[in-house]
Amino acid sequence: MTYKHLKERSYYEEMYDRHTVEDCRWHEEPRPMSKEENDVKEGLTAGQIQWSHDFVTDMLLFQRAGDRYLQREETINEWMERDERRDAVLDRARTPIIRCPSCGRSMECVYKRLDYDIDDRKREWVEFILKCMPCKQSARVFENGQKVPEKPSLCVKCKKEVKLSTRTKNGKEYFIDTCKHCGHVEETLSVLDEDKKEPTQEEIDRFEYDKKRFCLTSAQGQRYKSWVEGMKLMKEETKEQEANVEYYDKLAEVKKLNIAGLEKLLKAVIKKAGYTDLHISMPPPDRQIIINFSVRDTEEKRESYDSEKTLQKIFEKALEDKNWALVSDGIHYRLGLLSGRIQGYETEEDLETLTKARVKKSMKAKKPKAHSEVAF
Ligand SMILES: [Zn+2]
Ligand SMILES: [Zn+2]
Repeated sequence: MTYKHLKERSYYEEMYDRHTVEDCRWHEEPRPMSKEENDVKEGLTAGQIQWSHDFVTDMLLFQRAGDRYLQREETINEWMERDERRDAVLDRARTPIIRCPSCGRSMECVYKRLDYDIDDRKREWVEFILKCMPCKQSARVFENGQKVPEKPSLCVKCKKEVKLSTRTKNGKEYFIDTCKHCGHVEETLSVLDEDKKEPTQEEIDRFEYDKKRFCLTSAQGQRYKSWVEGMKLMKEETKEQEANVEYYDKLAEVKKLNIAGLEKLLKAVIKKAGYTDLHISMPPPDRQIIINFSVRDTEEKRESYDSEKTLQKIFEKALEDKNWALVSDGIHYRLGLLSGRIQGYETEEDLETLTKARVKKSMKAKKPKAHSEVAF
């Protein structure tokens, strides 16, 4: 006898839908208002707070049911593939040849099954139960013939080893554990003979009702899919609009300085941070205006990395709304003398390019929004 894993597709569909119903019921349970909800909504009436709480709950439930629909096919396929693979592993497993300890004949396989690690479901192995019918000998082994280690059953009272036996009573099988130490007898009904608790008509009706609410039909599912895509698009558009607003604001803010103005500004800011002797020189004119600068660090103890980074920050801050920017090759430090390049932006077109780059950088630096905003 071999346990068969793969079942009809409807078996998996029912299991998936049952999980969906249970999951959505859990999400639907009334929950007390969180501290954040009460704090954020100061100034609102209790009714308004309750309304917004209910709205968020409904929204989460709506998304939960929708997401369960979107994952349904894929999950069921995965389950079926897993069970098909397990059956194939079982089919391939060869019964090891084990001799009966009494008569020496090779024992017969009466049952084989696939077992797996509860913590790591990828770790699987096959177990065989072998028997010698005439001698009533049996063995539980792995495919390589090694014995499956048996964990002794322990007495529920004194935790010492017990003797196992079975008894049939009123046509049902019971397992009897008799303690060798304290004599305690524990009787348990075999799982196979347990009376299955059939659901009541009320439970069945309630399940069918919830299934209609939470397990989306394909038309409802398609609508949900479009809704998700629409929301995604809306988020992207909002982001783009934000970037646009920032771009026009920044562009209007840019202050145009000539070289004399730049020199005056930089001299003032470096002084505050312990740098001095700003020198600038301009290479022969080119299409782009790029000037070389050097400054001296007056702080003896400042190391090269710190000195470079500090100066870079000062320059970036001072130039963030000006028509000048540090060239990306950075600032170089040698024995307290720092040097680098600054580019000037002259035409409207140049300024637009510069502003676009600045907005892009600032959008990147912005952190993603908090999860709690999801419903609004
Ligand atoms: Zn035998
Ligand atoms: Zn005992």
